Amino acid sequence: MEPESLLKRCMRCGFCRASCPVFEETKNEGSVARGKLQTLLALLEGEVPASEKALLRVFECTTCDACAQACPAGVEVGSAILAARRRYLAKLELPVHEWKVEVTREMGNPFGEVMRASEGEASTAYFPGCTTQFRAGEIEQAAVGLLRRILGDFSVVRDFCCGAPLLTFGSAWEDFIARNRAKLEEQGVERLIVTCPGCYNTLRKHYRIEVVHLSALLLESLEELTFSPLSARVAYHDPCHLTRGANIYEEPRRLLEAVPELELRELEHTRLDTRCCGAGGGFPLAFPELSASLGKRRLAEAKRAKAEVLTTFCPSCYLHLRTLAGEDLIVKDLTVLLAED
Ligand code: SF4
Ligand code: SF4
Repeated sequence: MEPESLLKRCMRCGFCRASCPVFEETKNEGSVARGKLQTLLALLEGEVPASEKALLRVFECTTCDACAQACPAGVEVGSAILAARRRYLAKLELPVHEWKVEVTREMGNPFGEVMRASEGEASTAYFPGCTTQFRAGEIEQAAVGLLRRILGDFSVVRDFCCGAPLLTFGSAWEDFIARNRAKLEEQGVERLIVTCPGCYNTLRKHYRIEVVHLSALLLESLEELTFSPLSARVAYHDPCHLTRGANIYEEPRRLLEAVPELELRELEHTRLDTRCCGAGGGFPLAFPELSASLGKRRLAEAKRAKAEVLTTFCPSCYLHLRTLAGEDLIVKDLTVLLAED
């Protein structure tokens, strides 16, 4: 669909306002989907100049998709925002975004790290993704440990980034994912098991391969698995990209219910009504303070639920919430929680 026709589908009802975590914080109409879509339309039609302030609006979004879920007109807000990022990235002074795009292209990942080698030759492979590999290695270790308990042979594919950072920051990425697809074919990989929601959505939508979320495999094997007891009140933060992006929100709860002695507490915004913690869509890079405010709102919900542990199923949410949490709340990724002895 052409961007103009996509933008014109907005009937300006404002239903998106109540669900936008950024608007909840800023109370600024320009932050919410309706305001952003109007700004984009005015930019496309040349009614307003392409000022830094107007263009920056397209990056003031966590890509949580809460607005699209609430929208009665079915406006694909996320697609409009990503298309606008691609159009305007080069016109903005966003050095960190530019650096991330550059190193993803040159080094193969958005952290500028040296990619680690893949291991094994089995056609079923675990794909940790860059954030897990380079910033939350404990999730990779835990996932490999769990997979050893339920699968025979499997390999680990670590030698490329799924490409989500390029798409999120507004860069061309078609050539990048075409190279990755060829690598998977060369390596004989037919099925990828994934823990990161961003990788999961990107791989299943843009790669011609079977992609399975770890939660589905664990649930299939629940009778063979025993988890160590955890005597604690545990709340689960639904990551937007796993919940709205992939409809996976009952599975983590069923897994938590299988942990002996664990008492599951629900946050106020839960399942499809989840609220973004502020870590998504490159938001912390451009708006670190706002991003931290969104995270603190989620931590406050966990405290009101009297949780001792806050768990989630996403390396970005985990890292963001862990950085913001005080000493009275333990933040732990669900893969790690389930793999503990
Ligand atoms: S809910 Fe949809 S139609 Fe209504 S203002 Fe928001 S984006 Fe536009
Ligand atoms: S995707 Fe989320 S943060 Fe972005 S405009 Fe929609 S509700 Fe707000």
